[in-house]
Amino acid sequence: MVRKILDCHDSRSESRNDQSKRIVSGIRPTGKSHLGNYFGALQNWVELQKQNDCFFFIADWHALTTDYQNSSELSKNIEELVLDLLSCGLNPKKSTFFIQSHIKEHSELFLLLSMITPVGWLERNPTYKDQIQELSAKDITNLGFLGYPVLQAADILIYQGEAVPVGRDQLPYLEVCREIARRANHLYGNIFKEPQPILTQSPLIQGTDGRKMSKSYNNAIYLSDSEEDFKKKIITFITDPKRQRRTDPGDPKDCPAFQNFHKRFMNQEEQAEIYKGCTTASIGCVDCKTKLYHNIHPWIFPIREERKRLSKDRKSLYTVLEEGAQKARKIASKTMEIVRAAFHL
Ligand code: SF4
Repeated sequence: MVRKILDCHDSRSESRNDQSKRIVSGIRPTGKSHLGNYFGALQNWVELQKQNDCFFFIADWHALTTDYQNSSELSKNIEELVLDLLSCGLNPKKSTFFIQSHIKEHSELFLLLSMITPVGWLERNPTYKDQIQELSAKDITNLGFLGYPVLQAADILIYQGEAVPVGRDQLPYLEVCREIARRANHLYGNIFKEPQPILTQSPLIQGTDGRKMSKSYNNAIYLSDSEEDFKKKIITFITDPKRQRRTDPGDPKDCPAFQNFHKRFMNQEEQAEIYKGCTTASIGCVDCKTKLYHNIHPWIFPIREERKRLSKDRKSLYTVLEEGAQKARKIASKTMEIVRAAFHL
């Protein structure tokens, strides 16, 4: 089965060029991925691996920084995320794909970097302050959460990452990493590369009710949804509120379904046709979203089928991850040899 996973992805191989960079990125395992996660992160990873030397990991230790009180779902969430990533096209033969906690060197480097990181850098981080407010229902006054950017720096620097895909809101975290690398290089000689940001677009995808797509709002469309659920969610997706009756004209600009999905899954000609039909009320919303569903189907169907195939043999997922961990560990161990020597340990 493992070979099958690798072979399957082999057929999608593309060659790397001189622009290839060492890219490091992690994702927190929070359960099954929805379309917001796909367009926000998963799709980026699949694209980046085509031309770069990518180190992608499931950030299970990071998940504990805010959810340490409820870790019972962690292993299940990791499996779901691995299934989503592989079925969306992450290729474990082209990318080094592993679980963060399987590489203990991350924690050793985190410890050493925490010795040289002033607490003020972490407390001043605007993202830290925002998150304390956003997650006020949780007790995150723990050292692990404050030190989150140091662990992130260790995750990146341990692989001598040259670039990190980030949304604009995550730039402060990467800046802390760059500051830590500079300080380490200043104190101990040039031991780390200073990673550059690759600014990625993280479009805000709305859920079926028009709010941000989120598990907690119960409005998400999951990659793993059954055909029936998927269709139902698309058909019931909120539309322009002006269209109370079939005969009321609407405007696609005010329609969350159109803005989130028609634009992605319909060509210009189809969009123009919908625009005309919607503004003149010559097409109803159900017909319009049924057409949308038929356009999304060729994209989601292979992902869902691949997910089903992979989920039949979950043990093989861990073999794939172990193969990735072995590759990652080799690089991480080399970095730690250099770091220990530089710290005179
Ligand atoms: S007809 Fe289509 S674009 Fe217009 S409001 Fe309904 S779903 Fe949206």
